[in-house]
This record gives sequence, C-alpha cells and structure tokens, in this order.
Amino acid sequence: MYDPKSLKAEEFIDHREVLDTLAYAEKTAADHQAVVEILEKARKHKGLSHREASVLLACDDPAINEEIYKLAREIKQQYYGNRIVMFAPLYLSNYCINGCVYCPYHLKNKHIARKKLTQDEIVREVTALQDMGHKRLAIETGEDPKNSPIEYVLESIKTIYSIKHKNGAIRRVNVNIAATTVENYRKLKEAGIGTYILFQETYHKESYEELHPSGPKHDYVYHTEAMDRAMEGGIDDVGLGVLFGLERYRYEFAALLMHAEHLEAVHGVGPHTISVPRIKHADDIDPNAFDNGIDDDTFCKIIACIRIAVPYTGMIISTRESKAVRERALELGISQISGASRTSVGGYVEPEPEEESSAQFDVSDQRTLDEVVCWLMKRGFVPSFCTACYREGRTGDRFMSLCKSMQILNCCHPNALMTLKEYLMDYASPVTRIVGNDLIQKELPKIPSDKVRQFVEKNLDKIEHGERDFRI
Ligand code: SAM
Repeated sequence: MYDPKSLKAEEFIDHREVLDTLAYAEKTAADHQAVVEILEKARKHKGLSHREASVLLACDDPAINEEIYKLAREIKQQYYGNRIVMFAPLYLSNYCINGCVYCPYHLKNKHIARKKLTQDEIVREVTALQDMGHKRLAIETGEDPKNSPIEYVLESIKTIYSIKHKNGAIRRVNVNIAATTVENYRKLKEAGIGTYILFQETYHKESYEELHPSGPKHDYVYHTEAMDRAMEGGIDDVGLGVLFGLERYRYEFAALLMHAEHLEAVHGVGPHTISVPRIKHADDIDPNAFDNGIDDDTFCKIIACIRIAVPYTGMIISTRESKAVRERALELGISQISGASRTSVGGYVEPEPEEESSAQFDVSDQRTLDEVVCWLMKRGFVPSFCTACYREGRTGDRFMSLCKSMQILNCCHPNALMTLKEYLMDYASPVTRIVGNDLIQKELPKIPSDKVRQFVEKNLDKIEHGERDFRI
C-alpha cells in the first residue's frame, strides 16, 4: 500500500508503513553496527530515508546522540553557513469555522475577540513592521469563507506589497492559510507569494479526525493532499510542519519525512521549509491537556534529526519557543526565525487589553527585533533580511539545485551582509549597529571570489551613503 509516488494521502502517508518504521527503528537502534552504518551514510550530507532517520531518533546512547548533534551542526554549516533569515507573522483575521481542539480560534470559542483587519488597518500594521526593519512576512488567517475568502487574502497581499514607507518594503509574503483548491493556489502564485505554508498538525488520521471534529479542516485527505494541489497550482516552495504535542513525536517524525519524500518523488522538489511548532497555552487552551508533549531535549533531538535527514530544507522556529530553546535549536539546524512577533490581529500597532485578546497563542520570546538581531550577531550568526531568491526565480528545484551544489553560500552570504547593512543603517540601535558593522567586517573575507567581495564592498559603501537595493 505504501507508495511515495501515489497522489493519495493514505498511500504516501501509509499508516502501516509508519508503524513498521517505528518498530524497525526501535529494533535497529539497539544494533550498534547498523546505527554506525546509518551515521556513515549521514556523514555524506546527502540526507537519509524516513526509516534511517527514525533509527537515529530512537537511539538513546549518549555517545551516538553526540555524533548526531555534531553532524547536524556540520550540515547546517555546510549548506546554510551562519545566516539566519528573519521574518514576522501577520495575523489578518481570526474568524474561523473549524473546531480544532488545540486552537483558540475554534468556532465554539465565544470568549475570544474576533477581529479582521481592513486594508487601512493592514497598512498601519505593515508600516509598524517596516519600522522595526522586517522585510519578510508570513500572513495567517483562520478558515472562514465568508469573513476571509481568497479575494480578501489576495487584496491584502496586494496592499502589503504596495506599502513603501521610508526605506522599508515587504519584499516577500509567505502565506499560511487553510488548505484550498488548485484554482486558489494558482491565484496566490499570481499574487507573488513566497512559500505556501500549511502545518499538517498530525499525520495520524484517527487522531487528526478527533482533533478536528468539525468544519472543512476535518477532512484529513483534503488537508494532507493540499501541497500536491499547491504544486499543481504552480507554487513550488511549500512549507511543512506538525504541531508537536498532539501525537507521538516518533510517528509524526517518520510521517513528516515520508511527506517530504513524496513531494520529491512526485514533483521533483522537496519541501522548501519545515516548521517545528509545539502547542502553547492560549485563550481557552491548556497545553497540559494534551498527552504527547515533548521536553526540550527531545525537541532539540528532533530538530537535529530533521537537519540530517533533509539537509536542503530550511527549518523554521517561531517565538513560541524561549530564547534558551531557540539558542540550542539554532546550532542544530534552524535557518529561519521570527522576531518581535504578535499573534493577535492588529497587535503590532497597539497591544490589546487582556479582556479583548485575539491572540492565537502565548509568545515565549518577547524580545524586540533589535534585541533578537543583536543577540544573533553576538553569537556569531548573520541575521539576513534577504528575499532575492524568489524574485530572481530561484524557487522550487532551481533553489534546491543551488542548495545542493552549495552555491547558496556564495550567493546568499553576500546578500545577507548587504541586507543586514541596510537594517543596521535604517533601524538598529547604536549598540546593535556597532556589533553589526564589526560582524560584517569579519564576514567579508569569507566571500571566496575577489570579484564578488569587491562588488559587496562597493554596495555596502553605497548603503552607508543612503542607497537601497529593493532587489535583494
Ligand atoms: N487556519 C490555517 C490552517 O488551518 O492551517 C492557518 C493556520 S494557524 C493561523 C497557524 C498554526 O498555528 C496552525 O496550523 C497550528 O499548527 C498553530 N496553532 C494553533 N493553535 C496553537 C496553539 N495553541 N499553540 C501553538 N500553535 C498553535
């Protein structure tokens, strides 16, 4: 029944194959020689199958775990270097007709304030985000065909791209909206979106149906096949994720990798990103009511094993996680983080009084973007505000081949430095600017080609003198 090339959800995420993988992983993790062979393969930095990666996840030998972490760090360094791409979520509307039991937007919640931004309010939110220095957004909505139909989402994207405030501009809009039709995905593509992100929540069909008891999201097959429809509609950068805490993490891990294998087998390109959200406290949601919560060590091990299994896929961690957890996760494979996020509708312009909260969940990392940027740089990371890839047509398999040939370092590193310089000039506090300018000087010699380095130096000088390049 298991067939990664099938277009049927229950065949590419075959429940039996997931269970067999878990049994195989449990047994093989106790076989030292077999584990050593998997690590040997992983050292080639070309990825692992869902079965092999599941064996590594099941290992509890501390020496093997150390090897796993070391490899994850090496792979991250090889393909992504020390760049960290920055973004922020923008909640457009929290009206929702679904019944998801972990999400406070569920229809039966009469307590939460329901809000939907008008186009004028979007202008104000985006202006506030630009004033922080953000260039890349992920827009979020609940699912409600009456209150937030596709036309509303498309109009909002147009508004967001049109706002040019001081030196600011949102140069890439990623979209996290409910599973939809091929026709609607085509419209999103035409609107110039970056990545289409949709979390599976859980791959376990029975649990999925219990956790989504009502509304269109109840349909497991429609939800699980969404990325195939998105790709049919021309979107070639898609972002996967599961909500950790809902199901057993080893089940989710194996199935998530099977989904990635399916996309590669059918569309010739794996997921552009994988997100790793964990359930958080929210309006009427208590994360302790869910039995499958994972501790920080397990969470970090999952991140390391994903890094090893799919080296070419970006990994995203949000402000659901604390500074301390993000610090560990960054080393092990994360390549994109959000900063200064608000999960409420309209929360960037004005913080909401508690009794009027429209927030989707509590945020753990509450630092400003300037604080996050400074912290990253002090730890040797280069915060990147670059969005060049999708405007230059480097999406889907063209992005993947860049990544696989490791040219991403020659191309992305210079762009990261130039966009960081723009950030430092336009938005940074004096201390952050000093830290950043020092970092740029240290990073410049790492650009291998003399010609590219001279080009970057010239551009840094232009940025210093007020020029901005809206192509990067
Ligand atoms: N409505 C769209 C959908 O159905 O996919 C958009 C998703 S929602 C705005 C973004 C994500 O937040 C969800 O996919 C879910 O994984 C996550 N989420 C919901 N409730 C959460 C909670 N209590 N804690 C953490 N994440 C949560």
